[in-house]
Amino acid sequence: MEAGLGGGHDEREQTLNQLLVELDGFDNSSSVIVMGATNRPDVLDSALLRPGRFDRQVVVDVPDLNGRHDILKIHTKKIKIKPKSVNLLDIAKGTPGMVGADLANLVNEAALLASRKRKATVDNSDFQEAQDKVLMGVQIKSMVLSDHEKKVTAYHEAGHAVVALFSPEADPVHKVTIIPRGRALGVTMQLPIDEKHGYSKTYILSRLAVMMGGRAAEDLILNEITTGASNDIERATSIARRMVCEWGMSDKMGPMAFGKKNEEIFLGREIQSHRDYSEETAQMIDHEVVSIIKNAQDTARKILEEKIDLLHLMAEELLEHETIDESDIKVMLSGKKISKK
Ligand code: ZN
Repeated sequence: MEAGLGGGHDEREQTLNQLLVELDGFDNSSSVIVMGATNRPDVLDSALLRPGRFDRQVVVDVPDLNGRHDILKIHTKKIKIKPKSVNLLDIAKGTPGMVGADLANLVNEAALLASRKRKATVDNSDFQEAQDKVLMGVQIKSMVLSDHEKKVTAYHEAGHAVVALFSPEADPVHKVTIIPRGRALGVTMQLPIDEKHGYSKTYILSRLAVMMGGRAAEDLILNEITTGASNDIERATSIARRMVCEWGMSDKMGPMAFGKKNEEIFLGREIQSHRDYSEETAQMIDHEVVSIIKNAQDTARKILEEKIDLLHLMAEELLEHETIDESDIKVMLSGKKISKK
C-alpha cells in the first residue's frame, strides 16, 4: 500500500537518486552543509544516511511549555497587543501539543478576531476565542438544535465532564460547551496540567471511562442512545486495541506486542499492520478489547450514578449558559448554581 507516503514508488526512487547524484558532487573538503527535513525518518534509504551524506539526524520535537512561550513571543511581535492584557505564558500552558505553525496560526486568528471587532489592539478575549476556535473547531451558530437534541447533548457532554472530574489521574476539565463546533454537537475539553510523555495504565483507563461517559449519561438519564457517541466509541476502541497489542497493558494477554508495524509515527496513521499471530490469538485480542471497553463503560456509569446530582446540575447549567469553564465547575462542585452572564 502506498497510501500516505506522498508519491508513488517510482517518484520516491527518482527523488532519492537525484539527491544522491547531487550529494556525490561534494567531496569531503568542501564546506557545504546540506540539510533535509522529513516526517518519515523510518523509510529513508540507508544509502542516503551513509557517512558523508545525511549522516547526522537532529530530531525536532514538539515544543514544550517554555518552547511554546518563546515561539509565542516571536509571533506576537508582529501584532499590536493591548498592554498588560495578555499573558503569553498562560496561553502557552493552554496549548499543549501545538507546534510553531499552530501557534503562528493562533496568533493570526486572534489578530483577525480583534480587527473584525475593529479593535486597535489584540486583547486577552481575542486570544481566548482564537484558542477555542483552533482547539475545538469553529462555532456553528447557524445550526439550530431542537430542544431535545440540546438536552441530549447537554447530558452527553456533562457525562464526559463528570466522569473526568472523578477519575484518577484524568486531565482537568477546561471547558464544556453545547455550541456545535466542527462536526460535533458539543465539546468537553480537558487540558493536562503538565506535559506527559508517557502514560500510565490508570491514566489511560480513566481516559477510556471519560470517553464512554457521554453515552453512559445519555443511557442513564434519557434511557436512549444516539449516534452522538460514535466518535467517542471509535477513539476508545482504537486506544483499547493499542493497550492490548502495543502497550502490553492487558492482564490476560501479557506484555506482548501483537502485529508488526511498518509505519505509524507519521501523523499517528496506521499504514500497514502485519499480522504475526494466529486466528486464535486474534480472537483473544478482540475479546480483551471488548472487555476493556465494557469495563470503561461500567466505570463511567458507576461514577455517574454516584454523582447524579452533579450530572443533572451541570446539564441544566449547560442548557442555560451553553458554555461552562473551570471556575463554573468549581462552583457546581460545591453544589451551587453558577451566577453569570
Ligand atoms: Zn462525546
